[in-house]
Amino acid sequence: MNKCVFCKIIKKEISSDIIYKDKNFFAFLDINPVNYGHALLVPKTHYKNLYALPDEVLSEIALLIKKMAVAIKKGVKADGINIGMNNDGAAGQIVPHVHFHIIPRFIDDGFRHWRGKPYANKEEAVKIAEKIRTSF
Ligand code: 5GP
Ligand code: ZN
Repeated sequence: MNKCVFCKIIKKEISSDIIYKDKNFFAFLDINPVNYGHALLVPKTHYKNLYALPDEVLSEIALLIKKMAVAIKKGVKADGINIGMNNDGAAGQIVPHVHFHIIPRFIDDGFRHWRGKPYANKEEAVKIAEKIRTSF
């Protein structure tokens, strides 16, 4: 995928502030951070999103997410860490190379979580749960 910005970053055709790399994975600072230290963790192989990511790669990356979270929390003395992942445009995915956001959070940094809205009624929740259960 030679047009992919993250593939270019991995190949160092585009510079980035690298925080971690190994044989299969690469992590660097987001150019437009939510807070300083906000990093992106990517597999070196180009997969579009979570659905395309092989299970064995996901298993490996899950362990790295934890390592990354611990290092970022310590490195920037964060009070908390959010892990984020956007899949598809509707969910805010802009770069189509699967990536995890590791975002340091600080007390009073001014960010809020998504605002939830309750189900219209109990029947709606029962129906939705059934639709999901039958989709596995
Ligand atoms: P998405 O919305 O696809 O989950 O997030 C993509 C992220 O990649 C954004 O937060 C954006 O700031 C970051 N990004 C896009 N282009 C570059 C780049 O060239 N360098 C770096 N370091 N980050 C980038
Ligand atoms: Zn790519």
